[in-house]
Amino acid sequence: MPVAVAADAARRFEEACEHARISRDTHELLMRPKSSLEVAIPLRRDDGSLEVYAGYRVRFDDTRGPAKGGIRFHPDVDPQEVTTLAFWMTCKTAVMDLPFGGGKGGVAVDPKQLSAAELERLSRAYVAAVADVLGADVDVPAPDVATDEMVMGWMAHELARIRRGHQPAAVTGKPLALGGIPGRSSATSEGAFHVLEELRASLLGDLDEPSVAIQGFGNAGAQLASRLAGAGYRVVAVSDSSAAVHDDDGLDVEALRAHKDRTGSLQDPPSGEQLDAGRVLTLDVDVLAPAALEGAVHEGNAADVRARMILEVANGPVTAAADTILDEAGVQLVPDILANAGGVTVSWFEWIQGRQGEQWSAEDVAERLEARMLRETGAVVRIGQERNLPLRTAAYVHALERLTEAIDATGTAELFSGG
Ligand code: NAD
Repeated sequence: MPVAVAADAARRFEEACEHARISRDTHELLMRPKSSLEVAIPLRRDDGSLEVYAGYRVRFDDTRGPAKGGIRFHPDVDPQEVTTLAFWMTCKTAVMDLPFGGGKGGVAVDPKQLSAAELERLSRAYVAAVADVLGADVDVPAPDVATDEMVMGWMAHELARIRRGHQPAAVTGKPLALGGIPGRSSATSEGAFHVLEELRASLLGDLDEPSVAIQGFGNAGAQLASRLAGAGYRVVAVSDSSAAVHDDDGLDVEALRAHKDRTGSLQDPPSGEQLDAGRVLTLDVDVLAPAALEGAVHEGNAADVRARMILEVANGPVTAAADTILDEAGVQLVPDILANAGGVTVSWFEWIQGRQGEQWSAEDVAERLEARMLRETGAVVRIGQERNLPLRTAAYVHALERLTEAIDATGTAELFSGG
């Protein structure tokens, strides 16, 4: 039997089930992934030595469509993390009403220790190891932590080589030149921006220049910082795994991004003062956007959070125990399965583009992304108001009710809960 999701995710699932009209079948089926593949990935290092890494691909549920979810390269990747991320993808695609299920993959490796050539060999070896379970109608990978469009290009190219034919809809997040779509790399931050703007008045009131702190300065976090700074927010702090930078008057985000591109880190920044990394999470700001990894806000630091609201750009950045503490403190929370769903939404556009041999314009992508983010944000807010639920539970209820419709349509079911 495949490994189940982490206890935190299971707890939230059970809580949401109490408020959702779902069948017993749905409850039982979503307790564990449908399939879970664990592989050994050999990598020939530049010095001629061989290393073998653990790799994973989990298909959590594919009732609503092919599994969809990113591939992560990080030393902490393990079967339970991948499974939990695949469960969240299942909920996310359902919240957004995309014709996908949920999946996730990863390799337990520190990519910072690899040369560019080693990273390419590892990406290709990963695809070779899991190729049997990938495909446009089966399971479609995308970028996640430390896997950018270059990595997805190598993976798409490798899959095409293995299948002896182009597979443009079998991998998303590809470079434009290989069938990628305009706006994919900024889609996660763009989606989060639309959700924030939609909820801004109700969560922050009539604030002139809301202050923001962002943990994680990678694909999602750095692009969100630019988007918010350009839209009149004051980005007062950002951090990556090496350092944190702070300026109460607002950071020069573009200068910081250029510095990070040039040096690879936020250390010795061109402006602003260095800050203890953990302090980014507890600054007195209007919006805190954790955009790094799971569990950033936990039982041990949740009481110190001073932000008025948290926008979950990362997957699972706030633990279930922290949820309770934040809720009691009146901190509003916009959940990951809504806030960061822009990425998978634009991956859907790329999948359609690949299946139909189309070339979408940046304007089409931007327009359709915004429309979908606003539509589903509105639906989650309505469920929250009608059933008196926090946004996180409302988002899960929304997802679970869509999942139960699909699962029940595949057979008979009895009611699990009356909602
Ligand atoms: P990335 O690898 O581009 O960036 C991750 C960033 O987090 C890096 O700047 C890294 O230095 C930083 N980081 C790591 N540990 C940290 C720590 N302890 N403190 C501060 N910073 C730390 O990854 P990404 O694609 O931006 O993904 C970030 C998060 O967003 C992940 O949770 C991912 O699952 C989620 N997400 C990404 C996408 C996407 O399309 N890329 C979509 C949805 C959700």
